[in-house]
Amino acid sequence: PEKGSLVLELDKARKEFGGLVAVNDISFKLHAGEIMGLIGPNGAGKSTTFNLITGVLPLTSGDIRFQGQRIDNLRARDIARLGIGRTFQHVQLIPTMTVLENVALGAHLRRDVGVVSAALHTDRRSEAELLHEAAVQLERVGLGDYLYEEAGNLALGQQRILEIARALAADPVLLLLDEPAAGLRYKEKQELAQVLNQLSAEGMSILLVEHDMDFVMNLTDHLVVMDFGTKLAEGKPAEIQQNPAVLQAYLGG
Ligand code: ADP
Ligand code: MG
Repeated sequence: PEKGSLVLELDKARKEFGGLVAVNDISFKLHAGEIMGLIGPNGAGKSTTFNLITGVLPLTSGDIRFQGQRIDNLRARDIARLGIGRTFQHVQLIPTMTVLENVALGAHLRRDVGVVSAALHTDRRSEAELLHEAAVQLERVGLGDYLYEEAGNLALGQQRILEIARALAADPVLLLLDEPAAGLRYKEKQELAQVLNQLSAEGMSILLVEHDMDFVMNLTDHLVVMDFGTKLAEGKPAEIQQNPAVLQAYLGG
């Protein structure tokens, strides 16, 4: 997509669990090449919002558009094929497989493979091609020296970047990252930020949920703050940092 074009739009997205409103008519827009942060205290509704976008959960009401197309009625697998990649809060790698093999596994969701041909197993790209594409993505994120290492032997920061490479193997337009910096050392966070900045410069759109304020403030172009399911504030990190309602929510007022 062209830089600055609309990639993702939530319009009054709502999710109720019984009587609980976990996501309360949330609206926001994300544009191509942007790094956007979704922050808020525990229980604010951030993960539920991710699950609505990725089709893991159905909406109660409202709608979600990706590159102009309604996606809230699609299945998770089809949403992934349209070009939304994600990583999970807890690392989901196969530790005894190599770094290269872990990424090759992500390539089966490639969006240039039609849903029909994938279902009929008529995607005839060879294993060698998949491994080659995986190596390209690993070089792209700076893990080119670790292709034949067992994934479980990597440091946590490298494993998080490996998960991003696996998502990239499916050729996404938008990456959703759930707390990518959680548990990382300072230097690992810097390396992760460098990878995300580079992807953004290449035109990738990124939406991340994050608890680490310093990490979010330095990295993102735009922030949405949630609290008790509602959108508390939205704007540039510097504005958000000064917002009294946000400070109140974070300081437990
Ligand atoms: P966050 O990721 O911001 O910490 P969540 O989206 O996980 O918050 O949760 C928002 C609210 O919805 C919480 O009160 C949580 O207990 C509730 N919730 C989340 N998932 C479910 C579910 N599957 N069933 C019932 N309640 C849920
Ligand atoms: Mg969560």
